[in-house]
Amino acid sequence: MSKKVFKASYIISSSDKVYENSFIVIENDKIIEITSNFKNEFKDYDFYDYSNHVIMPGLIDSHIHSYQVANRGKNVKKSLIDWLNTHILPWEAKLTSRKANISALLAYTEMIESGTTTFADFTSVNHTDEAFKVAEKLGLRAFIGKTMMNINSPENLQQLTKVALSDSIALIKKWHRKDNGRLNFALTPRFDLTCDNELFTETLKISDKYDVLMQTHTQETKGELDFEMEHYGKHAIAHLDELGVLNDKYILAHCVYMSDEDINILKKTKASVVHNPGSNMLLNSGIAPIPLMLKEGINVSLGSDVVAYHNFNLFEQARLTYNMHTLNEGFTSLSPRDVFNMATINGAKSLHIDKEVGTLEIGKKADMIILKLDTHHYPIADIIDNMILSANKNDLVASLVDGKFIFKDRKIVNFDKKELFSMIPELI
Ligand SMILES: [Zn+2]
Repeated sequence: MSKKVFKASYIISSSDKVYENSFIVIENDKIIEITSNFKNEFKDYDFYDYSNHVIMPGLIDSHIHSYQVANRGKNVKKSLIDWLNTHILPWEAKLTSRKANISALLAYTEMIESGTTTFADFTSVNHTDEAFKVAEKLGLRAFIGKTMMNINSPENLQQLTKVALSDSIALIKKWHRKDNGRLNFALTPRFDLTCDNELFTETLKISDKYDVLMQTHTQETKGELDFEMEHYGKHAIAHLDELGVLNDKYILAHCVYMSDEDINILKKTKASVVHNPGSNMLLNSGIAPIPLMLKEGINVSLGSDVVAYHNFNLFEQARLTYNMHTLNEGFTSLSPRDVFNMATINGAKSLHIDKEVGTLEIGKKADMIILKLDTHHYPIADIIDNMILSANKNDLVASLVDGKFIFKDRKIVNFDKKELFSMIPELI
């Protein structure tokens, strides 16, 4: 049995519970104690002294596209549809299993170095196995989807409905809930511009049958809304609601343009929203009404949406979220605690793992990150505000998933990152 005790200046259990100068005790994958008193019964445990450090729940990046990462750094100044058609879909059409594998390594190692312990990924139409293999090797908690498209998409990425679905079922059987539940499949119709009604309704049936989450994009740009009005007579959320496919297993990326009716549909169906502020700015998409959705009780998490944004640092997305909505709506729009929740427990809720991760509590899994408190953090008035307003990936010294180190002494445990530099030229 693996037994560990960690001492830290601050242990952030959740946005409303912080332990100062305390110990967190782990047996195997579970937290068994958080206490300010070191007990004799723990004296034989492996002891890690992280004085002058913070231990907090691992970050949850609820929306990425790992297989697009080779396109980063090209800030092409195009809006969504134009950008997809000229840059992203042609790249995805040429993807090989080797490129998919290197892309996942590049993406997932950067997430580990940035404090992310759980993520939800839209891989492309093909080679989804490669992402699972990399997540398995690195030790991350993963929800990985194979993108499905059966209309209005390049011929070599478009699949017959039955093929898209049977590919997905094969991946469910191979990977879903593998490795102590750490690896999971997510059904992934790209969006209603490229998926017909049958694909959405059949996806729901598979979700019900195999108990698998679903993820898609909705209402990100005005161009998308115009297309939907022309083809469906309504926007995506009303369209999907009319099909009867929305429920609490759906994760909807973006939701930038939202009517009162759309918000009522999300309240009724309990679908979750992922906010991607960096991507929404760079693609000139707009500002999502996140403070309103939070007030209405809709579950909103946070995503980096690489490569519509250019790095996987979720601390950066957290800061962008706080700054964007404070500028847009004023000081009462949302608090650093709201953003902290979006990056942790709300992500866990959207992935239906909030009873296991997202906060540090006795009985939950030990998915946690450890950050050094350096001079740029001091003076500390409120450690949670501090994590949103001042913390950065460079503060990260260690991460654990399921009670195992995946990042230790600022190094990735299960992969020598130096190997990546020689692989990167193969992506171009
Ligand atoms: Zn996306």
